[in-house]
Amino acid sequence: MSAEQNFHQAVKKSLQNTELQTRTAAAAAKHQFAVAEALKQFADLELARNRAKYIKWRVNENLDKYLIDFEANLMRKGGKVIWADTPQTALAEIEQIIKKNQAKHIVKSKSSICNEIGLNEFIKAKGYDLTETDLGDFIVDGFNEKPFHGILPAAHKTKEEINNLLNQKISTSLDIELNEMTKDVRDYMRSKFFKADIGITGANFLIAENGMVCISENEGNVRLASAFAKTHIIIAGIDKILPTLQDVDLFFSLLSSYGNGQRLMAYNSIVGPKNLEEQDGANEFIVILVDNGRSSTLASHDQREALSCIKCGACHFVCPVFTNIGGHSYGSSYTGPIGSITEPLAHGLNEYKHLSNASTNCGKCNDVCPVKIDISNHIIRNRRDNINAGNETTGEKLAWYTWTKAMLSRKNLNRSTSIKNFTFRQLYKTAWGAEKEFPKIEEKSFNQLWREKFGGV
Ligand code: SF4
Repeated sequence: MSAEQNFHQAVKKSLQNTELQTRTAAAAAKHQFAVAEALKQFADLELARNRAKYIKWRVNENLDKYLIDFEANLMRKGGKVIWADTPQTALAEIEQIIKKNQAKHIVKSKSSICNEIGLNEFIKAKGYDLTETDLGDFIVDGFNEKPFHGILPAAHKTKEEINNLLNQKISTSLDIELNEMTKDVRDYMRSKFFKADIGITGANFLIAENGMVCISENEGNVRLASAFAKTHIIIAGIDKILPTLQDVDLFFSLLSSYGNGQRLMAYNSIVGPKNLEEQDGANEFIVILVDNGRSSTLASHDQREALSCIKCGACHFVCPVFTNIGGHSYGSSYTGPIGSITEPLAHGLNEYKHLSNASTNCGKCNDVCPVKIDISNHIIRNRRDNINAGNETTGEKLAWYTWTKAMLSRKNLNRSTSIKNFTFRQLYKTAWGAEKEFPKIEEKSFNQLWREKFGGV
């Protein structure tokens, strides 16, 4: 089955799951309320967003230079950079590091790129002991699912479902309260951190001017993964660059406000290879820079702005499509409005063109994007490219031909409402979908109303 067929099937299933929709709507409402509160910390929010947009624009226009600066500065500090064009290259490199270190225990903390390259499946298939140390990811991993939302991976799960899972995995009590649950999970994770040979984390930002890696989190697990393990592997997309250390101040605040509805997340680390005189920290500090289609997005001059995304997930929870169909329906690594742009750009219209239609173009995503990405227009540009590439189906071509003919004929527009309703229903009902009521055409056309009021032909 093609990605598009899978998508349609998953959407159909999600639309029948009203319980999931209610839960997603509740999570979205809670998130939006918290975001609004956190944003009050900005004296001039528009200025902050414009500055962030400009900084990311500068990065996108000079990415080649900034990446080389980052690599040179990291190497000067004793770190190592590995360039990976594809997920396969990244995974092969990780396996080599595991083998070289004869590592048995690996801890991983939250990272959307690990999901993108299929890290968990790969490492488990090779028989290594891998522990997801972020609570949300630990839960979805336990259910053998993908994250539902980039920032809140287990937002779709009920407390009962989570209790049952934790009871099976780490023997927590079934009627446990949230604070006790997190304590039990923390104790379990601690034991894993103490014996970890390798810690794998993502990165929120990479600083070009000093080769440092910035990670923002709430559970402290990234910090532990980088402190206890002998080898720290950071997997990051090439789009994570920020030019200077000074920029981090703005981006940490925007990320935590829009992403988690917090003024600042609990742990904000700026890490790099340890100095010779330092006792703590990993002996090996390796950054794997993953391309995986990002260069294709960069090559698209009018859409490279999509690389500015800081993965806050704010656009997801305001999107009427995401909140109705949920994160799993997309069937892609990145979901929601931004995923509808980047997946077709990075991996080709052939496979992901349908995602660009998963939008009502209401524009709400543009309003909440901290880096002011013109999301709704990029979605339209994807649709344009899809048509220019000749990917329209015969049905779509016929529908638009008929629509144009009808709209350009006064005689047709003035026909009786029953004929117009019947014709529209025949032509568009399937595309409109069984879940929504088909709109009824007004009794009188605009021309008829005008004539009644002002006369004329
Ligand atoms: S597109 Fe903007 S709002 Fe959406 S996840 Fe990226 S940064 Fe956040």
